[in-house]
Amino acid sequence: DSSWEGVRAVVAGFGVSGFAAADTLNHLGASVVVLDESEGDAHRQEQAQLLEVLGADVRLGPGTAAELPRDVDLVITSPGWRPTVPLLAEAAGRGIPVWGEVELAWRLRGADPAPWLAVTGTNGKTTTVQMLEAILQAAGLRAQAVGNVGTPILEAVMDPEGRDVLAVELSSFQLHWTQSMAAESAAVLNLAPDHYDWHGGAQAYAAAKGKVYEQVRRACVYNVADEATRHLVEEADVVEGARAIGFTLGIPEPGMVGIVDDLLVDRAFVDSRATSAAEMASISDLDDDSPHNVQNALAAAALARAHGVAPVAVRDGLRAFRLGPHRISTVAERDGVRWVDDSKATNPHAARASLRAFDHVVWVAGGLAKGATYGDLVRDVREHLRAAVLIGADRDLIAAELAAQAPDVPVELADGDDADALMDAVATAARRHARPGDTVLLAPAAASMDQFRDYAHRGDAFAQAVDRLG
Ligand code: ADP
Repeated sequence: DSSWEGVRAVVAGFGVSGFAAADTLNHLGASVVVLDESEGDAHRQEQAQLLEVLGADVRLGPGTAAELPRDVDLVITSPGWRPTVPLLAEAAGRGIPVWGEVELAWRLRGADPAPWLAVTGTNGKTTTVQMLEAILQAAGLRAQAVGNVGTPILEAVMDPEGRDVLAVELSSFQLHWTQSMAAESAAVLNLAPDHYDWHGGAQAYAAAKGKVYEQVRRACVYNVADEATRHLVEEADVVEGARAIGFTLGIPEPGMVGIVDDLLVDRAFVDSRATSAAEMASISDLDDDSPHNVQNALAAAALARAHGVAPVAVRDGLRAFRLGPHRISTVAERDGVRWVDDSKATNPHAARASLRAFDHVVWVAGGLAKGATYGDLVRDVREHLRAAVLIGADRDLIAAELAAQAPDVPVELADGDDADALMDAVATAARRHARPGDTVLLAPAAASMDQFRDYAHRGDAFAQAVDRLG
């Protein structure tokens, strides 16, 4: 594709997606400038050198991203950059298009005919695209899940050989910057407070999520129990003939997928006279039968059925699927106490789902709140709490709500000089409170980056501390 020759592109932010964007555009013949205020670690500096050798201009360090170079045709931005940072505001002011990685991938997919089945929502995205991938593969399709976990989307579209369909995980940051993306079908799993600091509020966050439905031509899948997701479907501009398909943990009405007895059933894609229902799978086919994972499975099933997959493939795919690490995984069972790592519960809505899946919980929580509040969460889960062990920068927010709404629940604060020492303190405190039959649950309701590299590091540190506890 020669249309990129001479295009002057600025890549704002040099993380995983920034490197992919810079490398791809440089390869296509664009003239690429990379800007990032941080020098980065040794690995990043190697990547910078590689790009320089290939002809890109990589400027790392304080001050480099303060302003936009003079002659620029396009800015590719990174998820870490808020839309209000001066450089992006300047681009907007000068009328220069700003795209994220997903918009770039959509434009570069060129002749790749593989349709996108898109999944977003506050929680459950990764799980759902992986379930969807398993179902599509069980149907004999060459399907690939792309997004946060596994293959980055840009890499996938640049190498389209041998693939029929993509299951695409999309974050609100990525959707904020999409313009022309048009998924075949799309799902918003749920909408709850998260990342309000980045988006500048609840409305902007919801609006970004809603963009996933734009120009959908088959099915807009929404959560019947979450009104807000249905509203997003109603407001979206879709292709004529596209259908709204709800998923529900209750008995489905015509046009929905849902649960009857212990079965996942389809009343949307069966015969349109819809007195009938197709049985797709049993709840016991699932790796984990917590309500939120049944919802994820129903959403994945709806997207797959909209793509034309047979009901039996839904069953086979869900049977083959296994939950990823740090998502409600049991790391030890000792003296009648179950220790569970749900480090991926990085916001109150996710933590609520996992806390409510257990009866008596010693709750390990805290970290970076990202603008979240904890009043609703504590109210909804206080009956389940034996005790709480709090860590991290914003733990006082949780402690204050516990003191106000659950004064009988003992609260401990844990500290340590490094990740291991911190988690040793957590495990010791948790063991003091746990009784046989209880669950010690790491479900932080907050991001990890104040004390850990990422959620995986936090979960691993927890599991290792439980191990050392012996
Ligand atoms: P995401 O990719 O959106 O972060 P994951 O599939 O990685 O979602 O799950 C993250 C966490 O969110 C899980 O560990 C669990 O605590 C919670 N979770 C998963 N699915 C749902 C859901 N449908 N509703 C509420 N919480 C969920």
